[in-house]
Amino acid sequence: MSRIVVLGAGLGGVIMAYEMKDKMRPTDELTVVNLGATYSFVPSNPWVAVGWRQRKDISVDLSDIFGKRGITLRPEGAKRVHPEENRIELNDGSFIDYDYLIIATGPELAFDEVEGLGPGANTQSICQIDHAESAKGAFDALVKQPGPIVVGAVQGASCFGPAYEFAFILDTALRRARKRDQVPMTFVTPEPYIGHLGLDGVGDTKSLLESAMRERHIKWITNAKVKKIEADKMFVDEVDETGTTKAEHELPFAYSMMLPAFRGVSAVAGIEGLTNPRGFILIDKYQRNPKFSNVFGIGVGVAIPPVGKTPLAVGVPKTGFMIESMVTATATNIASLLRGEEPSAVATWNAVCLADFGDEGIAFIAQPQIPPRNVNWSSSGKWVHAAKVGFEKYFLRKVRQGKADTFYENLVLDMLGIKKLKELTIEPAD
Ligand SMILES: Cc1cc2nc3c(=O)[nH]c(=O)nc-3n(C[C@H](O)[C@H](O)[C@H](O)COP(=O)(O)OP(=O)(O)OC[C@H]3O[C@@H](n4cnc5c(N)ncnc54)[C@H](O)[C@@H]3O)c2cc1C
Repeated sequence: MSRIVVLGAGLGGVIMAYEMKDKMRPTDELTVVNLGATYSFVPSNPWVAVGWRQRKDISVDLSDIFGKRGITLRPEGAKRVHPEENRIELNDGSFIDYDYLIIATGPELAFDEVEGLGPGANTQSICQIDHAESAKGAFDALVKQPGPIVVGAVQGASCFGPAYEFAFILDTALRRARKRDQVPMTFVTPEPYIGHLGLDGVGDTKSLLESAMRERHIKWITNAKVKKIEADKMFVDEVDETGTTKAEHELPFAYSMMLPAFRGVSAVAGIEGLTNPRGFILIDKYQRNPKFSNVFGIGVGVAIPPVGKTPLAVGVPKTGFMIESMVTATATNIASLLRGEEPSAVATWNAVCLADFGDEGIAFIAQPQIPPRNVNWSSSGKWVHAAKVGFEKYFLRKVRQGKADTFYENLVLDMLGIKKLKELTIEPAD
């Protein structure tokens, strides 16, 4: 009998638990440690922030569902992982021992790295449901008293799709409220060009996104380093290819949402050999930590190097489809270890993203994520909005049913003509 623990019950951790349960032996024990007992679908947060979704629409209480599937839920959250001792210290002071640990704790939001950034200071966030709800209050105030918007991401960010998505969603929501004509919008990003997305562009994302922004009257500043943010003004340095400031901007705003840089959560940060200097979990091609061979990492919390050099720090996004392939590889590899075999499953790590504009959207696929690629595809249209809504409904139904199958994802990939994209590769150890 082995004790398997999944740390974190977000997008990666929940499907990890379901897939691990299907692949482990009946005698093995599975425990999930999370901060709280509720799953919340992060990709819908931009809709919450303009009132198109409520918290209850995108949240699931995991207690009963996990209970029915024979998965123990510990909602206390982890204070510290002790990989040398194979145990986790929980926030209530108790400990859990494990034979295998899968870390799926997602990002800690580094608002403190820019003065005045974040919901505790002068800008809104859509990274968590609580932030999105308070951003909705700020959006209502904007509709009552319109003024300029600054939206985007700060230096070091790695999640650009939601920043673009939210700019277009705000545009749609303000047009519907008949207030768009009173709201100048500026998109601010450390990316070297619009549509870089941390992936050095995918297909035609540069032209597609630039053209969508022109059509919707959204100005932009790229290579932008946010120096500080006051209550109603953002101070931005625009740098050249060498990183030297070439222009200084003072951007007044009535409403601002800026995505922060991410880092690893404090329960794992600073553990020699487990994490990199930013607290992300170090993994090999089997999702396994090189020093602690019974520890695996999946999701936004794992370390991935940037795709190339940029004047300002621009991280690689970790999207849902990529995370699913990490989950399948990890479950397969731990199942191999349980049978006394070596891990051999390697996640494909392809980037597939549906960026919704509220009425239409842009989709892109990068396979592999680092160029040159076999698939480098992007497209736009109303179907993207429909596909995104479908993905939300399907994913939440899957979480509520406690199922690990990926029928809809396969369907979407089928629609896009690349059904086999998510298959694992099997690579024995070198
Ligand atoms: C606004 C936004 C929109 C996005 N939209 C999309 C999209 O449309 N499509 C897409 O593919 N990707 C999207 N992403 C990217 C990515 O898919 C999501 O961020 C996804 O939620 C990441 O999954 P995860 O499991 O790594 O982390 P999370 O979903 O953030 O889950 C982490 C979990 O770990 C728990 N945790 C943290 N610390 C501890 C601790 N100490 N102890 C116990 N538990 C802990 C948290 O409570 C949480 O439940 C989006 C990201 C953001 C921020």
